[in-house]
Amino acid sequence: MGRSDRGKVYLVGAGPGDPDLVTLRAKKLIEEAEVILFDRLLSPEILSWASEDAEKIDVGKLPGRHKLSQEEINALLVEKGKDGKKVVRLKGGDPFVFGRGGEEGLALAGARIPFEVVPGVTSAISVPAGAGIPVTHRGVSTAFTVVTGHEEPGKDENLDWGALAKVGGTLVVLMGVARLPENTSALLRSGRSPKTPAALIERGWSPEERLVVATLGDIVERAKEADVQSPAILVVGDVVSLAEKLRPPKIAILRPDNRGEESERIARDLGFRPILAPSIAFRELALPEDLPKMIERADCVVFTSATGAEIALRDGEVAELLKRSVLATIGPRTREALVERGLSVTVVPDSFSSKGLALSLAPKFKRVLLLRSAKGSPELIEILEEAGVEVDEVHLYDIAPSADPRLDWLILRGRPDVFAFTSGSTARNLIERAKELGAESDLRERLARAKVAAIGPPTEAELMRLGVRVDYVPKMYTFESMLKEIRRKG
Ligand code: SAH
Repeated sequence: MGRSDRGKVYLVGAGPGDPDLVTLRAKKLIEEAEVILFDRLLSPEILSWASEDAEKIDVGKLPGRHKLSQEEINALLVEKGKDGKKVVRLKGGDPFVFGRGGEEGLALAGARIPFEVVPGVTSAISVPAGAGIPVTHRGVSTAFTVVTGHEEPGKDENLDWGALAKVGGTLVVLMGVARLPENTSALLRSGRSPKTPAALIERGWSPEERLVVATLGDIVERAKEADVQSPAILVVGDVVSLAEKLRPPKIAILRPDNRGEESERIARDLGFRPILAPSIAFRELALPEDLPKMIERADCVVFTSATGAEIALRDGEVAELLKRSVLATIGPRTREALVERGLSVTVVPDSFSSKGLALSLAPKFKRVLLLRSAKGSPELIEILEEAGVEVDEVHLYDIAPSADPRLDWLILRGRPDVFAFTSGSTARNLIERAKELGAESDLRERLARAKVAAIGPPTEAELMRLGVRVDYVPKMYTFESMLKEIRRKG
């Protein structure tokens, strides 16, 4: 595209990290941009909104070199603007809050290039909010001060920490990790009590968000223990104590990824912040050729999971045959998965367990076909065979230990309030993987400090065998009931 008069540069705030916290105007401009200049962003999804043809320049990291200086960024913005391009300069949070957006605006103004600022949701307020810390609160704090904890190297120190200590109210420190010890001791020296609540929030509004709550007196030690890294925000003041009640509980969900989206939605609907960390991986197996024959031969076909039902019904012939079969499921979620696809389920046991199902099948049927995971419990078959029922079994999928980076993150750095286990294998593989990473004792400590939920008695038994205390087991053995039980008991 040649020179034209319509070149314009937009200094756009991308918010604190969650793509849902980008303004509508920013999203529209990102979609329409011909050139995008960005720094390190917490969510790559935001960049995926841009057109494929757009030139995307990472000014934090150019091939073969480290980082563009602010002067070089200003010059590049001017150059692209002069080219007549629609340019978006994308920045974390708000461009005018420690974002050097003002400097870029001045450079553009100086070169007579039209520009516009698009404010973003600043991390200074939104990151504490996401962690349950309101920067002001009636009767607690009527002012908040936002400062940088990290002056540009070489620049004269111009922040008067003594004065800051005396202002009182809430103090929000951006870029506060590197100089945390110096800054907290300056506040203490100037008279803020070591008992003042203080918190660090790392990577707010991202799946890797972590919160460390301490006091001004011990935040340095707590931060070191938790290995807090930038980007993080330090909040000092009594409002920090409100996090205990206002913060949504974080729940680590260890079930395999094919249930991830659904679990995330259920968890959010019930007021949790989900951390997905699949500890088992899911692998679909090929349907055996004689499956139609086996279905025809059985007086009852049993599904033990919604996943199994989904796999089997994808095959047209199998789905047709199943419409004419007597079906049984272990619990209501599996039944729903079948009913949604137009099948009717005759048998669902009162207690949603293998044993409950076996006891309700045994008196009624002679030949039962089990369609399930390769790791299904032997109990169901044992009870049926003991009762004289002939059992055929087909494995629709298998599960294996997962090598998901989200699991490793949970093991090494995650600090959930609750760990939710949906099978014995999710628990076993978590501990196994922690051993491999050399982090078993550390993980066990965090398990002991957090609450632990098991979807049903076999999962509970496995956790106990692994030496993990269990706090919640729902009466109905579904993921949703497990989360409701956690909510109910608190
Ligand atoms: N313009 C940005 C701030 C840029 S300065 C804004 O308005 O938010 C960069 C600092 O912002 C980081 O060092 C960190 O202190 C803070 N920050 C930005 N995003 C953050 C996030 N998601 N979680 C924690 N801190 C964040």
